[in-house]
Amino acid sequence: MFDSLQSRLGGVFDKLRGRGALTEGDVEEALKEVRTALIEADVELGVVEDFIKKVKPRAEGEAVIRSVTPAQQVVKIVHDTLIETLGSEGTGLQLGSPPAPILMVGLQGSGKTTTSAKLGLLLQTKEKKKVLMASLDVARPAAMEQLKILGEQAGVPTLPIIAGQTPLTIAKRALAAARVGGYDVLILDTAGRQHVDEQLMAEAAAVRDLTNPHETILVADSLTGQDAVNIAKSFHTRMPLSGIILTRADGDARGGAALSMRAVTGAPIKFLGMGEKLDALEPFYPERVAGRILD
Ligand code: GDP
Repeated sequence: MFDSLQSRLGGVFDKLRGRGALTEGDVEEALKEVRTALIEADVELGVVEDFIKKVKPRAEGEAVIRSVTPAQQVVKIVHDTLIETLGSEGTGLQLGSPPAPILMVGLQGSGKTTTSAKLGLLLQTKEKKKVLMASLDVARPAAMEQLKILGEQAGVPTLPIIAGQTPLTIAKRALAAARVGGYDVLILDTAGRQHVDEQLMAEAAAVRDLTNPHETILVADSLTGQDAVNIAKSFHTRMPLSGIILTRADGDARGGAALSMRAVTGAPIKFLGMGEKLDALEPFYPERVAGRILD
């Protein structure tokens, strides 16, 4: 992810550095190119405009232009504003008293089930939590089976599957099992659909009302770019998200989704999916990402 954006911005700033002394016009020209690069990386248009609006007055001021290293100052301002856009709040999960329910939502194919198992494994191994997982995807028995298999691979227990139960009944059963079993965390993998639809939202909202999750995490595919942003908007208006996990960040996504998600929903990206393997889940650090983009 971010490779093409990184090389585009690198080019813009190399040119700026090559000039030595800068005029306001030079900075304005560079920011125009930054704007184009962000749009081409699929960053949501409103997010691009806000970004440039913040950077411009900071970068075009006399203090920057008259400084000994004007180009470096401009890069620093872009860097700091990137971190502001990505959100500098902590990336960790906010889990209250056990069993802490985590609701996983997202479209089918986004990587939701794999990510549920990855998160279960990470909490179990890195944070020493006792984790139970349950699939609520009654429309696709294969999805329930998949979580069970992934759970076995990860060594994270899953709620036994009972055919014919509704998502709410399974959620109740999962909560009871988590309480009785002394689990710290309960990961609920909700049904994924092809599109954001009313039934999907109503079902997930009913499960949320029943379980009162400590985290509601949207799993979104970074390769879908602008679409991932639109999906996040639709989910967030129906069901406030507490965090986002972007999958397929190991692929060649242009990064627009990563740069837009937090600004559009207010929910921070908490982890990146970095591959198909169950340990391929990394915490999202805005400083590192900004550093990478402007390397
Ligand atoms: P779901 O329908 O949303 O539950 O999606 P799945 O969890 O079944 O994932 C769909 C496919 O995407 C599977 O082949 C996963 O191995 C793959 N996948 C999930 N996350 C990632 C990721 O971060 N990187 C890559 N490369 N593949 C992923």
